[in-house]
Amino acid sequence: MSEKENIEEIRLNGIEASPGICIGKAYLVDKEGVDVVEKYFIDKKNLDNELKRFKTAVKQAVNDLKQIIENIPKDVRNYTGIIETHVALLRDRKLYDKTIETIKTERVNAEWALKKVVAGIKVMFLSINDPYLKERSNDISYVSDRIMKILMGSEEVNIGKIDKRVILVAKDLSPADTSQIQLDKIMGFVTDRGGKTSHTGIIARTLEIPAVLGLGNATKIIHNDDTLIIDGSTGVVIVNPSERTLNKYKEIETREEEHKAHLTLESYFKAKTIDGFSLPVMGNIELPEEVPSVLNHGGDGIGLYRTEFQYLTRSDFPSEEELFDKYKTVVESIAPKPVTIRTLDINGDKALVSSNGFDEPNPALGLRAIRYCLERPEIFITQLKAILRAAAFGNVRILFPMISSIDEIRETKKYLNEAADLLEKEGKAYNKNIPFGIMIEVPSTVIMADAMADEADFFSIGTNDLIQYTLAIDRVNMGVAHLYQPFHPAILRMIKHVTDVCKAKGIKVFVCGEMAGDPLNVPVLLGLGIDELSMNSQSIPAVKNMIRSLKIEDTKKLMKEILKQTTTNDVIKLVEASFGNIISK
Ligand code: PEP
Ligand code: MG
Repeated sequence: MSEKENIEEIRLNGIEASPGICIGKAYLVDKEGVDVVEKYFIDKKNLDNELKRFKTAVKQAVNDLKQIIENIPKDVRNYTGIIETHVALLRDRKLYDKTIETIKTERVNAEWALKKVVAGIKVMFLSINDPYLKERSNDISYVSDRIMKILMGSEEVNIGKIDKRVILVAKDLSPADTSQIQLDKIMGFVTDRGGKTSHTGIIARTLEIPAVLGLGNATKIIHNDDTLIIDGSTGVVIVNPSERTLNKYKEIETREEEHKAHLTLESYFKAKTIDGFSLPVMGNIELPEEVPSVLNHGGDGIGLYRTEFQYLTRSDFPSEEELFDKYKTVVESIAPKPVTIRTLDINGDKALVSSNGFDEPNPALGLRAIRYCLERPEIFITQLKAILRAAAFGNVRILFPMISSIDEIRETKKYLNEAADLLEKEGKAYNKNIPFGIMIEVPSTVIMADAMADEADFFSIGTNDLIQYTLAIDRVNMGVAHLYQPFHPAILRMIKHVTDVCKAKGIKVFVCGEMAGDPLNVPVLLGLGIDELSMNSQSIPAVKNMIRSLKIEDTKKLMKEILKQTTTNDVIKLVEASFGNIISK
């Protein structure tokens, strides 16, 4: 029996966060430690830079430790000895000189050289019998970790530098990590934490990367280079599959790709129900690079451009010019189709790299989105100016996230006017006559929908947060993922209330949360009276296909029955009995 046949196949179950099957090798990302270090070679012309990078990192580590010593209260100064030892160790010949020598002779990156040198020193220490000297091995780890963290920056492992095709396995991936992913390298995601509507899940779907999240302990079970099968549609991850399992999944993968290709062809046409009702099916994007994906999947425009990702991978704030440049690219490349630019929805599960050091106890209920922007007008106005300028180049709507009161809308308008006045003074081209929309994602906004409708040109229902805040279910907590139910009668009644208000007030209402992207939800949303749906681009073909199989009259009839139901299960049963056969076709 070969060694491979001896390895046992392991099946793990997690949350199906992004559909599709992929088969590949595991690449572990240990974001919370510095154990996983990549090796890459340094060109001769970049060698000096690499040496400088290492020296600067050591210098910073020395300064940091000196600062720590400074801050130790005078009466406990006798504890400074150990830290002074560490300062000395940072410059130790065996560590410092040897790392520099390794970078020079092996032409490798500083991280790799440091790791190699430290491993050598540790072996040496451990072979000594003296317990005191053995202990010193920990000091070496301490100081080298300090340098390593500085070298790697806040991201610690630079996902953007991975140079082979792999499946990422991580405890968690921040939006900053995922936004660095190179599509030609990363085949799939597997994480211990996160759920379907976590931003990792959303990005995975947008990038069309199969993902299974919330596995709990995948990083403990999976090793680097293990063969993995990810089935993002069922939430299954198979580690070291047998030949038989591999063949089975290869067949499913081929079948799925054929089906997808068929649906995509039809998706270029408008989505119209059998009885002639048509509605736009739009794409959600996080980055300008995703516009082609929306167009390739037949999107009728962009229903949600999440702009926060441009802020997440850096420690400063983007300038008006930088923002304008990206927005203009998106607006021009989708024109004459519309693009809905949503202002900064920062914090919550999308924290800035350089937050002010204050960890919010409940980030979802904290200084997020519009609340943050209203507290930081200079950042807000910079973005508003960039959006108004981009609006001069195509069909733009502006959308504000996490609105919870009329006061916030009014304050927002004040800043929007201020941004326009500044542009006027600066003599820059802009367009202020664009539809003004608010996200409906906080329960207070639903209750106040009639008054809110007088202040806005359109509503966009963010079901991800509306479910989170209404049902009190943390969208990234896998312990409560089973309670995250779009078909909860409370959610359906809230949406019905909002659509009734919009009809009475004569404004349009859209859905741009993940709920819009599941074909089984489509008859329900149509029956509820939604005017436009927006979703990750991959879902557009299947949703358009669903719309073409429906009669609007049937969805209205179904809705009357649905609104009488009092449990989620009863709603699901009713919808499946009426429309499930279309899905399984
Ligand atoms: C939502 O909450 O449904 C939404 C679309 O916004 P986000 O997922 O970015 O919070
Ligand atoms: Mg939201």
